Amino acid sequence: MLERICPACHADDTEAVESVDRQDLIRSYRQKGIDVSAYLPGSSITLCHCNRCELGFFDPICVGDGQFYEQLQTQEWYYQDAKPEYAYAAKLVREGSSLLEVGCGKGAFRAWLPESVRYSGLEFNDEAVQKARTAGLDVRKQPVEAHADEGRRYDVVCAFQVLEHVDGPKQFFHACVQALKPGGTLMIAVPAQDSFLAIAPNSPLNMPPHHVTRWTDRALTKLAHSEGLHKADIWHEPVADFHKEWHATTLAYHALTRSGLYRPRLIDNSVRYRLLGRLVRMSALRHYLVRSALKAHPALGVGHTVMLVAS
Ligand SMILES: [Zn+2]
Repeated sequence: MLERICPACHADDTEAVESVDRQDLIRSYRQKGIDVSAYLPGSSITLCHCNRCELGFFDPICVGDGQFYEQLQTQEWYYQDAKPEYAYAAKLVREGSSLLEVGCGKGAFRAWLPESVRYSGLEFNDEAVQKARTAGLDVRKQPVEAHADEGRRYDVVCAFQVLEHVDGPKQFFHACVQALKPGGTLMIAVPAQDSFLAIAPNSPLNMPPHHVTRWTDRALTKLAHSEGLHKADIWHEPVADFHKEWHATTLAYHALTRSGLYRPRLIDNSVRYRLLGRLVRMSALRHYLVRSALKAHPALGVGHTVMLVAS
């Protein structure tokens, strides 16, 4: 078998965790109204783990294109104007500083920043770029690699929910660091693998062609250190109100797993999964199971997003 190279640290010390049948993944997306059949080659896709940096990544790494994201945009839950990390990140940005947001959408984060901040954004989606420009924002359709090569430098570079989508995370991260002035601050927010997401079955959006990598605190920190950012802090979002139901159900399943009744699969359509689903929806039992899961693994009490703040 070919060695799989970690896309974050380039180590070959990686192992396969679980393979998912291509058709099962396509079906799982279809239940959400999204067709991914054009983006998944081969007959299966494998979640791998890097033993050196703890990154989770899918093999093959197959990412979505413009059309895929156009499908997602038609889902009302997809773009949020107020991501939970915005408020936290905005507090770290000083008056008068220059800031680059990579993958900025229509520039919703701008509204959270002090007026004196000089805001620039990069975005691939034409419609979003147009909306941002109409609102008077300096937003370009350009990869961060090319932007950094032009010699542009900022006090703050941030990317919210972008890194997990790209097929070259090391190159992407490197370009973000390159775009920093000396002593500048990098803020990268991603879905947290040190959270309930790691044990949430049937989450196709946390899989290709949407998300192709999974980030633990350690994987983020190691990548920052490898790029010469030695001060690397981690912030975990509390569980958001709109994730509370999903969070509780996932923890309840997890408690059942520990009792040996159920071992979750990435995509699970088994009768056993559905039967246990009925159990964990019974609220009295669920409260008990959630408490028991949190007692065994307090780290499962955090929310969906983790943010690296590095300089
Ligand atoms: Zn690695």
